[in-house]
Amino acid sequence: MIQTDVLVIGGGPGGYTAAIRSAQLGQKTLLVEKDKVGGTCLNRGCIPTKVYLKAAELLHSIEKAPLFGIKIAGHELDLQALRQRKERVVDTLVAGVKSLLKANGVELKSGTARFKNDNTVIIDGQEEITAQKIIIATGSNNLELSIPGTELPGVLNSDEALELKEIPESIAIIGGGVIGVEFAEFYASLGVKVTILEALPRILPLEDAAISKELQKLYTSRGITIHASSFVTEIRKAGSLKELLFETEGQKKTLQAEQVLVAVGRRANIDSLALDNAGVTFDTKGIKVNENLQTTNPAIYAIGDVNGGIQLAHVAFYEGEKAAEHIAGKKIDLDYKVVPRCIFSNPEIASVGLTEEEAKEKGYALQIGVFPFRANGKALLMDAAEGFMKIIAEKDYNEILGVHIIGPAASELIVEAALALKLECTIEEIIETIHAHPTVGESYRETAMDVWGRAIHFKR
Ligand code: NAD
Repeated sequence: MIQTDVLVIGGGPGGYTAAIRSAQLGQKTLLVEKDKVGGTCLNRGCIPTKVYLKAAELLHSIEKAPLFGIKIAGHELDLQALRQRKERVVDTLVAGVKSLLKANGVELKSGTARFKNDNTVIIDGQEEITAQKIIIATGSNNLELSIPGTELPGVLNSDEALELKEIPESIAIIGGGVIGVEFAEFYASLGVKVTILEALPRILPLEDAAISKELQKLYTSRGITIHASSFVTEIRKAGSLKELLFETEGQKKTLQAEQVLVAVGRRANIDSLALDNAGVTFDTKGIKVNENLQTTNPAIYAIGDVNGGIQLAHVAFYEGEKAAEHIAGKKIDLDYKVVPRCIFSNPEIASVGLTEEEAKEKGYALQIGVFPFRANGKALLMDAAEGFMKIIAEKDYNEILGVHIIGPAASELIVEAALALKLECTIEEIIETIHAHPTVGESYRETAMDVWGRAIHFKR
């Protein structure tokens, strides 16, 4: 029997961060992982999808090259080479995580953990590990759609879509959330006819309505078909194609596509853990935790996607560190007010804080600034002037409550906004900060100035 201070189950972003932080804090730490370290994010999510989206971006750049006087004789996409690139990037990062674990003195064990009791797990039905504290970081997997036809060949989830062997002529994407929108971007860039079906009235329903509307407009102009308020009820085989049956505002409709991608959310990975043996309570969303990330058994913590909270790798990083610190006796104060969200569409979307709808619901008197990127010199010279930035502030102190961006490099721009929210910055403080020119980032200052109708490079 192995004994350790801290046992971490699952080596994704939450788990490996928790293990490294635990070891940094002097705890004897063991991490058990059934597959490769890095979890979904590194092996099947954030990283590999961004390799594909980088290829999509390069294809756009090639199309734009003549605008900059560059003639490109011809180009084609080599899928095998792209897949190899994806695998090389993933392998490099997995090796990096492994070496970080080793360098920090974390013992890595391969296998599937199952609780025997509240302080002991069994690995692959054989080896027992007893720990004073246990952190569950087993993540999530693709939610299956319980409608007929999902078992048909050519109906994929996002893991399968990543193993792209050939480019279909058309694809129907069920779910207009983050995964649906990012895959739509990739397929559309390859010239595939893409249709998105979203059950709610708009794609990206969690984003500010103005942002969703802008993406819908831009995607539609690129030939992506979007059916909102459309609930898919069945998939059938139709010759070499698939036929989707869906309901839009009481009307029954159909459409056909060569492939179907199901992207309707993710569910917590708890089935193989035997949580009942450890007194850990869970529901359909995941494992219940308190304000210190402890489960109903206080010696056991749950972090990242498995606890039913915000399903983002950077939230898992944060929770991993915090759980390790709490175990080491530190007081923690979890703050989810500032969680940036990035969507790697083209243009990118990024946001932090409250949407306009949420701020209104909370009863704030609002003042709002909007600045279009077509008025920003850098965006214009890059031929990336689509979209806008929006700042939402309250009226008593002029404090910024939310920043929403659809435009070039939005995922990098959001960093300033996240810090601004964390520091409770006001509109004046953004205006009084000199922003470098020519940058896309100077749009922050212009957007803040637009709150009071005094932007220099844009007249409302
Ligand atoms: P999601 O919850 O973001 O979106 C799923 C969408 O599917 C919802 O809008 C829902 O209304 C719709 N839907 C459900 N059933 C449907 C049906 N029968 N017909 C039509 N539409 C239906 O989930 P996701 O896009 O699968 O992503 C899963 C998680 O992974 C999310 O939390 C997401 O934030 C995260 N993720 C983040 C990133 C990123 O940060 N860039 C990238 C990928 C995934």
